[in-house]
Amino acid sequence: MSANPDHPAHPDHPFRSPVRSPATVVIVGAGPRATGLIERIAANAPELYGDGAPFALHLVDPHPPGGGRIWRPDQSPLLWMNSMAEDVTMFTDESVEREGPIRPGPSLAEWAREVRGAEPSHALPPELAAEAAALTGQSFATRRLQSAYLRWVYERAVADLPPGTTVHEHRDRAVRVTGPRDGRQQVWLEGRTAPLTADAVVLALGHLDAEPDAEQRALTAFAAEHQLTHLPPEYTADSDLSALRPGEPVIVRGLGLAFVDLMVLLTEGRGGRYERGPDGELAYRPSGREPVLYAGSRRGVPYHAKIGYSLSGERPPVPRFFGPAEVDALLSRPGRPDFRRDVWPLIAKELGFAHYHRLFTAHPERVAGEWSAFEEKYAACPPGSPDLDVLVAAAVPDPADRLDLDALDHPLAGLRFGGHEALQQALRGHIEADLARRHDRAHSPDLAVFLALLSVYGQLIRLGDIGGWWHGFFSFLASGPPGPRLEQLLALSRAGVVRFLGADMTVTPDPVRGVFRASAASVPGHTVEARALVEARLPEPTVDRSRDTLLRSLYRDGAAATPAGLLAVSPADARILDRAGRPHPRRYALGPHTDARASGAFARPRTNAPAFRQNDATARALLLCLRELSCRATATA
Ligand SMILES: Cc1cc2nc3c(=O)[nH]c(=O)nc-3n(C[C@H](O)[C@H](O)[C@H](O)COP(=O)(O)OP(=O)(O)OC[C@H]3O[C@@H](n4cnc5c(N)ncnc54)[C@H](O)[C@@H]3O)c2cc1C
Repeated sequence: MSANPDHPAHPDHPFRSPVRSPATVVIVGAGPRATGLIERIAANAPELYGDGAPFALHLVDPHPPGGGRIWRPDQSPLLWMNSMAEDVTMFTDESVEREGPIRPGPSLAEWAREVRGAEPSHALPPELAAEAAALTGQSFATRRLQSAYLRWVYERAVADLPPGTTVHEHRDRAVRVTGPRDGRQQVWLEGRTAPLTADAVVLALGHLDAEPDAEQRALTAFAAEHQLTHLPPEYTADSDLSALRPGEPVIVRGLGLAFVDLMVLLTEGRGGRYERGPDGELAYRPSGREPVLYAGSRRGVPYHAKIGYSLSGERPPVPRFFGPAEVDALLSRPGRPDFRRDVWPLIAKELGFAHYHRLFTAHPERVAGEWSAFEEKYAACPPGSPDLDVLVAAAVPDPADRLDLDALDHPLAGLRFGGHEALQQALRGHIEADLARRHDRAHSPDLAVFLALLSVYGQLIRLGDIGGWWHGFFSFLASGPPGPRLEQLLALSRAGVVRFLGADMTVTPDPVRGVFRASAASVPGHTVEARALVEARLPEPTVDRSRDTLLRSLYRDGAAATPAGLLAVSPADARILDRAGRPHPRRYALGPHTDARASGAFARPRTNAPAFRQNDATARALLLCLRELSCRATATA
C-alpha cells in the first residue's frame, strides 16, 4: 500500500472509491480566486471545524496554483499589472463585512518590502528580487512578480489549514461534474478514466476562452479565403503574434487593456526601446520588426490613466444614494430591475455626490456656498433632472469642475477631424491632458468618483447580472492603464508605430481587394486597408459559448444562466442555482464566469472588497458542510 495519499493505491485516494475517503473538497481552477478561498477556509476552520476529522483538498488546474493561468510565472517580463502595488491585497482587514476572522497579511507592496528582508521563504529569482527591491507602493509590478506574491499567499494559506488536512494538486483540466444533488460528486479530469470524488465542488474557473460568434467566424473564414490574418478576442499573452509582420499595417479593434498588452508585445517585445530625451519626453527607438498598428474603438480613445496620487483628507462618504437599502428596494420590486431605468440614475447620483463632496471639501475656492446647503438640495434633486443642472450651475462656476458622465462616456462625440494627421495630434493632446489631470491633485474629485465607482461595484454584486455596458464604463474610467503605458503610447504614436483611427470604428471585409478595411466616424472618408485584423479584447464567454467543457456541460445538465450567459449562483454563499432557482447543496462557483462577477479585480486594502465577503461566506458554508459529513461519519462508525 502506498504511504502517499496522492498515490492511486492509497486507500484514501479519491480515484479509488470502495473505501470511504475523508471529507473531500475539489476546487477546479487554482488562480487568485481559489487561493483567496483557501485563505478563508484556513481562517474559518478553527471556529467552524475545530474538532472535525482531517479533510482533503484537491486543486485541479493545468497551471500552477496561486496565480493560475493569468498570473503564471512563465510569461513575458514586459507585461505589467494595471493596479498599483499598494492597491493589491489578498488579505482581509477590518473594513470587510464578514463573519469570519480577520487575518491580516501584506499587500503586494508590503510583501515586496518583506522580501527585501530576504527571508529564506521569500527566495525569488534574481530579476524578481531586483524588481521587489525597487518596488514602491505606486509602482506597477510585473505580472511575474504578482505571480510570486500569489504563490506565497497560496503556500501560506495551505500551511494554515487545519492539521492533518491533505492538499493534492492536479495539473489537469476538469471536464465534467456529475453526481446526485444529495450525494457525493464526481469531478472528471481530461484523460483520466476514474473521477475525483468530492463532498463539495467549487468552480473558480476565472477568465475563459469563448467559441467565436457569427461575426468572428465570418471574419476568420474571410481571412482564410484571402490568406489574411485574423486574431479573434483572446487572452493576448496566449496569442501567436508571429503572423503580424514587420512594417505591415494591422487593424486593431479595441483600445483597452488587451490593446496595451498587444502594443507592448509587438514593440518592446520585438526589440524596440524607449529613451528619455533632454526635454524629458519619451522617444521610441524601433527595432524595425514592429508592424504598424491602426487602432480604434467605439470611444476611439484609450482608457483613462490610473490615478497617480493617493487620497489625502476625507474619503467620500459613500454609500449614500446607492447602498444596501437602495439595493434592497430594487430587489423587492417584481421582475428584474432594468439597468438604465432603475439602477443607473442611482449610480449617477452616487458618483455626483462623491464628486461634489470632494470639490466642496478639498477645493472650496472653486465653489459657491456651503457644502451642507448644497448637500441638502442635491439630495432632493432627482438624478439627471433640470433642477440638478440648475443647482450645479449655480454652485460650480467653472463647467470643467462639473461632472458630466455622458461626456466622459463619449469623449469624441460629434468631433470630426480634417484628416488622419489632425486626428493623431488631437488624440495625443487628449492623452497628454488625461495623463496630466490624473497626476494632479487639483482634480482630486476624480479620485472621489473612482472610490465611489468601487463602492457601487460592491453594491451591484447583489443585483447579479446587470449587462455589459456598466463593466465597460467602469473599466474605461477606473481600470485603465498605468500612466507610464500611456506615455509609451504617446511615444509610439509620435514614432508612427501606432496610428489612431478614432471613434465608432467599423471593420469590413473587402472581397474585391481581398483585405480588411477600417474606418471611423472621427475622420469622414478616411479608410485603412490591412491584411491583418486583431480583436484586442478579452473573450466574453457565455455558459453555452465558453470553450470550457466543464462549464458547458454543467449548463447542459441543468445549471441556470443569466440573460447575459453567466452562471447563476446564490448571492449568499455562491451555490450554483438550477433552473428552478434551487441552490445546489454541494456545488459552488466564484469569479468572473458567474453572476457574482462584480468582484473581478484584486481587492484594494480597506475597501470592504466583495471578493473577500464572498470567499468568506463560501468558505464558511463549505466548512459547515464538511463538519456535518464528518459528524455523520463519526456517528455511523
Ligand atoms: C490579462 C488580465 C490582466 C488583469 N490584470 C489585473 C490587474 O492588474 N489588477 C486587477 O485587480 N485585476 C486584474 N485582472 C482581473 C483579475 O484579477 C484577475 O482577474 C484574476 O486573475 C481573477 O482570478 P480568478 O481566479 O477568478 O480567475 P483566473 O485568474 O482566470 O483563474 C482561473 C483558473 O481556472 C483554471 N481553469 C479554468 N477552467 C478550468 C478547468 N475546466 N479545469 C481546470 N482548471 C480550469 C484556469 O487555468 C485558471 O488558472 C486581470 C485580468 C486579466 C484577464
